[in-house]
Amino acid sequence: MTADVADVIVVGAGLAGLVAACELAERGRRVLIVDQENAANIGGQAYWSFGGLFFVDSPEQRRMGIRDSHELALQDWLGSAGFDRPEDHWPRQWAHAYVDFAAGEKRSWLRDRGLQTFALVGWAERGGYDANGHGNSVPRFHITWGTGPALVDIFVRRLVGNPRVRFAHRHRVDELIAEDGAVVGVRGAVLEPSDAVRGAPSSRNIVGEFEFRAQAVIVASGGIGGNHDLVRKYWPKRMGRVPEQLLSGVPAHVDGRMLEISATAGASVINSDRMWHYTEGITNYDPIWPRHGIRILPGPSSLWLDAYGKRLPVPLYPGFDTLGTLEYIAQTGQDYTWFVLNSRIIAKEFGLSGQEQNPDLTERSIRAVLERSRKGPAPVHAFVDKGVDFVTATTLRELVAKMNVVPDVLPLDFDVVEHEVTARDREVANRFTKDGQITAIRAAREYLGDRVRVVAPHRLTDPKAGPMIAVKLHILTRKSLGGLETDLDARALRGDGSVLPGLYAAGEAAGFGGGGVHGYRSLEGTFLGGCVFSGRAAGRHAALSIG
Ligand SMILES: Cc1cc2nc3c(=O)[nH]c(=O)nc-3n(C[C@H](O)[C@H](O)[C@H](O)COP(=O)(O)OP(=O)(O)OC[C@H]3O[C@@H](n4cnc5c(N)ncnc54)[C@H](O)[C@@H]3O)c2cc1C
Repeated sequence: MTADVADVIVVGAGLAGLVAACELAERGRRVLIVDQENAANIGGQAYWSFGGLFFVDSPEQRRMGIRDSHELALQDWLGSAGFDRPEDHWPRQWAHAYVDFAAGEKRSWLRDRGLQTFALVGWAERGGYDANGHGNSVPRFHITWGTGPALVDIFVRRLVGNPRVRFAHRHRVDELIAEDGAVVGVRGAVLEPSDAVRGAPSSRNIVGEFEFRAQAVIVASGGIGGNHDLVRKYWPKRMGRVPEQLLSGVPAHVDGRMLEISATAGASVINSDRMWHYTEGITNYDPIWPRHGIRILPGPSSLWLDAYGKRLPVPLYPGFDTLGTLEYIAQTGQDYTWFVLNSRIIAKEFGLSGQEQNPDLTERSIRAVLERSRKGPAPVHAFVDKGVDFVTATTLRELVAKMNVVPDVLPLDFDVVEHEVTARDREVANRFTKDGQITAIRAAREYLGDRVRVVAPHRLTDPKAGPMIAVKLHILTRKSLGGLETDLDARALRGDGSVLPGLYAAGEAAGFGGGGVHGYRSLEGTFLGGCVFSGRAAGRHAALSIG
């Protein structure tokens, strides 16, 4: 099928593509949104997300007693990003523009469209280094009331039924059509109809071909996290060993193919070796996509041991430095670590990432939120009961014996684990200590939002806080931090820095802006906002460019 059906084609019905399409339709342009999955998957990864958004100096922060500022956020961003390459020219500019957005228009722009946020501001990626180093100096993680589905719905309801907007589901783009040095359309395969549920892998059987032409194409096809071959191919050399065991934190459609297809058409892809994978992944006992893993959103109290039972070094405490921890794990020569904790800690401090793991917030039920604060989250309890990675015991000796029969682990030496646990437990006897993690727990409890979530330091072996719990933690793939290089108008660039006419890129495919707005590390809650910001830029500028 060949057709000239739209002014602009958007590849990808994820958040970035939906935002771009809204901007185009609002400006009177006809848009065709092409996606390889069925209509059930609209919203892509954002639907599955927790809906965590990075805002700076928000009313929610101020109500919680947090003093934040643009300057502090920029210091945190640049300290985390560590931009150090010539190709960081555009990513750096995107970073400045994005912090301006997060400290300025972002919240009101989303609220005008219907966003509501949960009152408690979370503190992700605390860093643990000095003021110029990685991490959020203050809590900035604002959870969408209704989580990912509510965020996606803001844009879906503007598009479905809009006469200027058409969807071509089950259309997989295999080629960007380039003529006279400009991108003028897309070609690909029509995939057989699929009634697969959202997130489940769908058939790749081809029933036809298509070709669509338009004045501009926006690539918003997501990253590479569902394609472990690509993750391993681009695995950062600085991290050392490439992991053998990986769980997937994203559906299979996050396959990274469009990046290579765009490169074939002349676009520059940069920073492919920058990625954001989690180190607190657990095997989903009820998987939706292949190797489906869930990320624990941990509070700071669990004791983190490597595969040999040795405590992770300072400041690799739960929730402090994701990539620092990943780098340490790679050096151990193993692909997993352990949390050792107890019932008191898990009830208060464990959250799970993802909309389906937070039914109280997703369903916007205040009653259920209050129930969680009393009893702990039901999905976490379900993992303790059914998850293959969890073991419980009343004594440390019994716990270690059970850890040693979890699948695919090295046998732990009880004396090594006991030495770490006992040494740590001795440090809680006073209100002051030399132990950095205990000090960090006490500091966290100075923040109102953490006083209700972080338990007071106590002995892990305290029977009153038991039973003891251990969790095997896997590496969980999630986000690509690099991608298609773009200027501030979201125009795709060639390798020589010139604009590739007709092509725009947004969302994770564009490294959330510029080809890597985060640099090496992220502050969290910055990905959804990066899709909104870059999707908005792509839609606006594509609308302008076609006159
Ligand atoms: C469980 C989970 C929790 C998360 N929590 C948060 C959070 O709290 N805060 C935060 O900031 N971020 C979070 N994220 C990350 C964030 O959701 C994603 O980075 C973001 O949604 C990516 O959106 P996107 O539009 O760029 O790409 P995607 O959502 O991946 O959408 C891309 C679309 O393009 C389509 N596509 C790809 N290739 C082709 C092709 N060749 N032809 C046609 N179609 C194609 C795909 O089918 C897909 O529908 C989370 C992610 C997950 C999975």
